[in-house]
Amino acid sequence: MSDILRTIQSRDPGEKEFHQAVREVVETIKPVLDRHPDYRQAAVLERITEPERVIMFRVPWMDDQGDVQVNRGFRIEMNSAIGPYKGGLRFHPSVNLSILKFLAFEQVFKNALTTLPLGGGKGGADFNPKGRPDNEIMRFCQSFMAELFRHIGPDTDIPAGDIGVGAREIGYLFGMYKKLRNEFTGVLTGKSLAWGGSLIRPEATGYGCVYFASEMLANRNDSLQGKICIVSGSGNVAQYSVEKLIESGAKVVTLSDSSGYVYDEEGIDRNKLEFVKRLKNIRRGRMKEYVDKYSQAVYTERDSTLDCNPLWNHRADCAFPCATQNEITGKDGYNLINNGIKLVCEGANMPSTPEAINIFLDKEILYAPGKAANAGGVAVSGLEMAQNSMRLNWPREEVDARLRLIMKSIHKTCLDAAAEYGKPGNYMAGANIAGFVKVVNAMLDQGLV
Ligand code: NDP
Repeated sequence: MSDILRTIQSRDPGEKEFHQAVREVVETIKPVLDRHPDYRQAAVLERITEPERVIMFRVPWMDDQGDVQVNRGFRIEMNSAIGPYKGGLRFHPSVNLSILKFLAFEQVFKNALTTLPLGGGKGGADFNPKGRPDNEIMRFCQSFMAELFRHIGPDTDIPAGDIGVGAREIGYLFGMYKKLRNEFTGVLTGKSLAWGGSLIRPEATGYGCVYFASEMLANRNDSLQGKICIVSGSGNVAQYSVEKLIESGAKVVTLSDSSGYVYDEEGIDRNKLEFVKRLKNIRRGRMKEYVDKYSQAVYTERDSTLDCNPLWNHRADCAFPCATQNEITGKDGYNLINNGIKLVCEGANMPSTPEAINIFLDKEILYAPGKAANAGGVAVSGLEMAQNSMRLNWPREEVDARLRLIMKSIHKTCLDAAAEYGKPGNYMAGANIAGFVKVVNAMLDQGLV
């Protein structure tokens, strides 16, 4: 087991996020390999950690000043054992091969848990959309798709949104794909309702995350009613997590962006959430503007010299990290525990560092890893693909009911796998083991390809 980690580290020495994601999985699946010597013999770990294909390309475009800009685009086609590659596109200046490989690797396990036939992939560019006018975003998306279209297709690889890629970007990407291919197909998910999108897709990751948290609490005869919740981020996942938390009777007291966070002791109610949606999705403003409107709330600017984030240092029952990777450090983990946290449910991908995860497991709080808790987004993307193939649209209630059932099923799958392999109640072990076994069995069925 440590051999494989050493090999990966020496082959791709700079890819620390990818190493972190692989290490977490490798450490939890040891009991599976012990029970299945055939898996070791077939070198399944070596195979599942190597992408089937990595595409890297130049994205040249012209800004509004007439200056030429060049970004780097990526698509990682990680694993297609159980279905076509599926996973989002991220536009953020921090994007590099390590971050996208970690996301693609996590996606393989997540997609396997959804019960749908979806392989795993991820892509994006080191492009910063923040503050750019729509025309520049459009030109960038068109240039990005002018290369990506060769590699994707409704039965091959179906990208979606992620950080920095929302409804606007999906629209521009889809338009360019359609022009280049002269085909109207479900090649992207997260599309607008009028041209092939699914009801509940925008809400799915956040709603699904809260459904998962409800399942965890119900398993301990508890519920979200009256719980104080801290949420990070203020994008798609954060907004719809907060919406469902309010609907479930919880009180949400924080939201953030990359500049800082707001603490609103009175609670972020429906009206305040509508203000945040307009602020972030339409005006594309900053969270600090929240306190101009709601003066009882307190805004704290981000301090990158700190080894912790004060957002995680408030008295609360439940935490929903919904911004980005490694946003909960070991110190944040202790702060959460010391403030009475009972549940951490990850809306973002890999938001907790290994040190923080160890603290949660050690203190036996309810801890749901992103690959299980945030799988609702890709699950409804799978439902969008099904509706596109059938050329019909399911009503909102039907999609929401399917999402609930899928999250319930993922919750049960995690608990069952954890118990079967001697780690009862450990959702992280359960998610890794169940996803691994499903994908590896399919790989073995299909031979050495
Ligand atoms: P959005 O772009 O809609 O929102 C991201 C939010 O996180 C923004 O508030 C952003 O702040 C903040 N953020 C981004 N990077 C950082 C950073 N380095 N430090 C602090 N804050 C940061 O993205 P999503 O809501 O779609 O995605 C959030 C997380 O959820 C990601 O980890 C993503 O991979 C994961 N996810 C998303 C899914 C989806 O369906 N959208 C599905 C499954 C997982 P700012 O406004 O300043 O940029």
